[in-house]
Order: sequence, then C-alpha cells, then structure tokens
Amino acid sequence: MLIGAGEIRARVAEMGRQITADYAEGPLRLIAILKGACFFLCDLARAIDRDVSIDFMGISSYGRDTSSSGEVRVTKDLDHEIAGLDVLIVEDIVDTGITLDYLHRILEQRGPRSLRIAALLDKPSRRRKPVRLAYTGFQIPDQFVVGYGLDYGERYRNLADICVLGGQP
Ligand code: 5GP
Repeated sequence: MLIGAGEIRARVAEMGRQITADYAEGPLRLIAILKGACFFLCDLARAIDRDVSIDFMGISSYGRDTSSSGEVRVTKDLDHEIAGLDVLIVEDIVDTGITLDYLHRILEQRGPRSLRIAALLDKPSRRRKPVRLAYTGFQIPDQFVVGYGLDYGERYRNLADICVLGGQP
C-alpha cells in the first residue's frame, strides 16, 4: 500500500476546499478522463462548494502495458461545449504528461474561459511533456500504482487504497 483510503479522503477534501476558494461563485465544469479518474471525480466534485457540472472524455491509455506508448487517441469526446466556461480537467495520474499535454491543447482550442488541471497523483520523474498542474494530490515515485480508479488490465480499480503493483523489481 502506498496511500491509504483515509489519507486520500483527507487530501481530496483539502483539494476541494482549495478549488472552492480559488473559483468565484458561478458554474464550474469538471472534465474527467475515462476511466481511471471517475473515482477521483466523484469524491472531488462533492468536496467543491460551487455550481459544478461534469463531463467525460475518453483518451486511449496503456491497455495492459505499464509503460507509455507515446500515442494519444480520443475514444470519446465531450457531450457538451465548453466555450466561455471555467473548466477543470480532473485526472487520476500524470506520468509522461503526453496525455494531458494533448488534451489541454485540444480543449484550449474550444475557447473555455479558463482551463486548469487537477491531478490526484503526479510522477514527475517520468515527465516528457511539461504540464502545469494547478492542483496535485500527491507526488509519488516512479512505480506503477493501482486502486482508487487506477487499473492494470482493467483490474484493481475498486481497491480503496492506492497500491504499488506487485512483481516489480
Ligand atoms: P501519461 O500520458 O502522463 O504518460 O499517462 C497518463 C495515463 O497513463 C494515466 O491517465 C493512466 O491511465 C496511465 N498511467 C500512468 N501511470 C500509471 C500508473 O502508475 N498506474 C496506472 N494504473 N496507470 C498509469
């Protein structure tokens, strides 16, 4: 176990308070990247005391592999436009930064009023693209983690704690 459920809960609540303080009254659109970020989105949304709405974006990820292919593909687009809105991208983990760099660029082109990123986990040692994170839950070492939405071949998403995948050197 790397980060326990209680620690996650406390940190997400803190992040929600910070986001509430940073945004003026008014609508805030949260955009979660499927599927891993859904668990974080649900908890974070409830910790934000603002007029929150949610939408989802599908981006291709590693599949069963644990290292980045460097390829990004949109598998599901947003249901609603974001022009003129305050938008917060909600992501489970930033590794190389390739996914968020790509997503940030395509969403920026749609004319949101503001566009920021909240990531629960940050693995800065593997960064290949610079990504500015407005809100970060935890910085973690370069280990492959599962739980709280994060999977390995679609398994382990339902673990309450964030754990390091076994069998690694
Ligand atoms: P990036 O494009 O920043 O390299 O990768 C981001 C995506 O890779 C995340 O949304 C997640 O799907 C996947 N990923 C990166 N590191 C991990 C990890 O330690 N565990 C799991 N389960 N997925 C990871």
